[in-house]
Amino acid sequence: MPRDLLTIVIAVFNEAETLPLLQPRLSAVLDDLAANARVDGRVLYVDDGSNDDSWQVMQGIAARDPRVALLRLSRNFGKEAALTAGLDRIEAGAALVLDADGQDPPELIPQFVAKWREGFDDVHGTRTVREGEGWLKKFTAHGFYRLIGRLSKTPIPQDTGDFRLLSPRSLAALRQLRERHRFMKGLFGWIGYEQVAIAYERAPRLAGKTKFNFWKLWNFAIEGITSFTTAPLRLATYLGVVTALVAFAYGVWVVVRSLLWGDPVAGWPSMMAVILFLGGVQLIALGLIGEYLGRLYTESKQRPLYLVDTWHPAGGVSSPAGIREGDSHADGPSFARGQGA
Ligand code: UDP
Ligand code: MG
Repeated sequence: MPRDLLTIVIAVFNEAETLPLLQPRLSAVLDDLAANARVDGRVLYVDDGSNDDSWQVMQGIAARDPRVALLRLSRNFGKEAALTAGLDRIEAGAALVLDADGQDPPELIPQFVAKWREGFDDVHGTRTVREGEGWLKKFTAHGFYRLIGRLSKTPIPQDTGDFRLLSPRSLAALRQLRERHRFMKGLFGWIGYEQVAIAYERAPRLAGKTKFNFWKLWNFAIEGITSFTTAPLRLATYLGVVTALVAFAYGVWVVVRSLLWGDPVAGWPSMMAVILFLGGVQLIALGLIGEYLGRLYTESKQRPLYLVDTWHPAGGVSSPAGIREGDSHADGPSFARGQGA
């Protein structure tokens, strides 16, 4: 029976404390997969411009384990870009995305692999419990998944993060989506193919703090909605239509009233109310258009999604500097080529 290849992609931003705790668990899982599932596993850590010791920790890990590859970006590009960078480097086999903080238990990976073997292309973890997260975060996350589920035509599974396995053809499909505003959960959903969910309990962070505060999450939610639906623009249209109808009815009433009962000077308060209301509605609609226009603007610049500082392929390369590729982004040596060299 041929052996399959699986690359575990981990975006890392200031996780010097969690990596040493995660790596032994990962390596145990890789041993298990190699022995019992005919899967050769590799780990690819993507350093998303960390400013703590993460890169040094990662280099230490890679020096000890030939199954570990490292990729360092030129600065912090955000988790979605870091994951894209990692996924772009995989030339063969399936990919599995995991958080560096241990919230996605690596021990579940064999279950993901089993589903992949059954023929599924996208095996994703669905959270049943979120431990160690405040009620407000749970509540807003819940609300967000439901809202986007209703608005977007692309199916986006509820309560599903980035913990997922992608078959080679899903991975190839994802590579074709080069948009700058990357709402990964939506992109995964857009691809389609055979999807299946695995329920799991989301563990608390091993150490350190979340990188996503409420402001970031709010922007992330706007990103998701604007990337996957133009429903807000339609809403603005409806709001405008309703406002116009009400204004028209009120206008008729004002004319009729002054014809029937004469025209004493109308009240200033009602006038102010109408002006302010209309001003507000117009600004909201303009803001909405601006959100989409701004996205068009960044999209039109066609910048690369990320820049690579250092690529350190798997295979126990001892030189800490690795291979320099100042300006490459999407195409550079991948796992297979890197190992052959
Ligand atoms: N992360 C990243 N770049 C960033 C922010 C976060 O690569 O700019 C990584 C982080 O190291 C972790 C994952 O994304 O592996 C999830 O981050 P975090 O645990 O802070 O998010 P949460 O689980 O609280 O949503
Ligand atoms: Mg986390």
